Amino acid sequence: MNIALIAHDKKKSDMIQFAIAYCDILVDHTLYATGTTGLRVKEATGLPIHRFQSGPLGGDQQIGALIADNAMDLVLFFRDPLTAQPHEPDVSALIRLCDVYAIPLATNMGTAEILVRNLNKGTFDFRDVAKNGGTNETT
Ligand code: PGA
Repeated sequence: MNIALIAHDKKKSDMIQFAIAYCDILVDHTLYATGTTGLRVKEATGLPIHRFQSGPLGGDQQIGALIADNAMDLVLFFRDPLTAQPHEPDVSALIRLCDVYAIPLATNMGTAEILVRNLNKGTFDFRDVAKNGGTNETT
């Protein structure tokens, strides 16, 4: 599965702890991340991660482009709900695209725990169907 990792600044330590805790599961998947999140997680875990631009510089939109191409299977987006973000429109757009394409999205660590624990249990098999010409047509 292709998995995107994004964490706002005040949630980066949570993301790092999460990635360390689930390293043995995440290692079996292809990881993508916004710039700083990816760097921090890579430093902490050694996991290979494809890093895009930093979120405020377009990284959220780059991940959104993969979602629009039906190339992202899971998005773990640890949002900071208590701090205004300069790139709030990009944040909203990313969440919207997950809904447009029915991509599983965790916006907090609790949901991320449930999704990641199910990654290797067949729960995400529907994504293989979707990627092979399944139900994600929007027109
Ligand atoms: P960052 O971007 O990982 O480059 O900090 C995350 C974000 O704020 O969208």
